[in-house]
Amino acid sequence: MKRRIVAVLTGLASVACGLVAGISLNGGSALPESRAACPLAMPMRDDTILCKDTERAPSTFAQPADEALRAQLNEAMLALEREGRLAPFTAVQQIDAALIPDLPEPHAADEARDSTDLYQQLAAATVMIHTGYKCDRCANWHGGVASGFIIHPDGWVITAAHALRNLEANRHLSVMLHDRTLHSIAGVALIDDDADIAVIWIEALNLPFLPLAADAPSPGAPVSVLSHPNGHFYVLTRGVVSRLLDNTAQPRQRLQITAPFAIGSSGAPVIDDAGNVVGLALSTETIYADPEHQKNPQLVIPTCTPAEEIRAVIERN
Ligand SMILES: [Zn+2]
Repeated sequence: MKRRIVAVLTGLASVACGLVAGISLNGGSALPESRAACPLAMPMRDDTILCKDTERAPSTFAQPADEALRAQLNEAMLALEREGRLAPFTAVQQIDAALIPDLPEPHAADEARDSTDLYQQLAAATVMIHTGYKCDRCANWHGGVASGFIIHPDGWVITAAHALRNLEANRHLSVMLHDRTLHSIAGVALIDDDADIAVIWIEALNLPFLPLAADAPSPGAPVSVLSHPNGHFYVLTRGVVSRLLDNTAQPRQRLQITAPFAIGSSGAPVIDDAGNVVGLALSTETIYADPEHQKNPQLVIPTCTPAEEIRAVIERN
């Protein structure tokens, strides 16, 4: 199987990905998401940080470390560019979703880890989905960062479908692993707008991964999320499962939790205390006391695609 995949993908970069264009993001949503914020990529404010001829964004405590990582991302993009290993996302090869291997078995549900172990397992498999572009005002690469995680050690990575939608033609998609190695995307295997998941492939082996949980979590079960909200890289949040929504229309299933996330968190893993993925971070819904004017926000509900839905989508493709 592995050899076959490599054979399919060698010499990519010339076939346009037909899955990228023309599908509505919000079509047919049966959930009350009309006021949902879409935590996609980082805003333009952060795009300008590495531009030497522009002013710096207002300082925050987190910024020096995050800026260092962003500089590392830029250096790695420049290296890939020098090696001729970058292609715009629109030229990335679409690969057969049937080539996604069987997903690894989950950890036993009673196999609770201590919090440090759990974090290390989560961090090792959580990636930065970089949608970069070459600046026309300086020599650097800028761009947005969404979240994602490795679902199979042979280079299979999952993120939110909407993180890859509506990208300008000059955007280059790459994946930075937790060990700070940067990989140009080698193929797109699946983009499902209803479940809001995308499976992409990078040429790497023996990667740390997170297994999908076998069963749906119960309300009250503890969950952890590791994501990159608004350029704050690898932020851990904790909470519980708030509720599971099962609709008759698409999107069929959603998982709501109390662990916060924000713009840039899309595609992040939501794991249980055994280290299994129970969901993928998607969006937030804000409840306002004055919904008409969107004033006096009272509650923000983080909403995810449940693992069951992820598994079903991958298996039927
Ligand atoms: Zn620039």
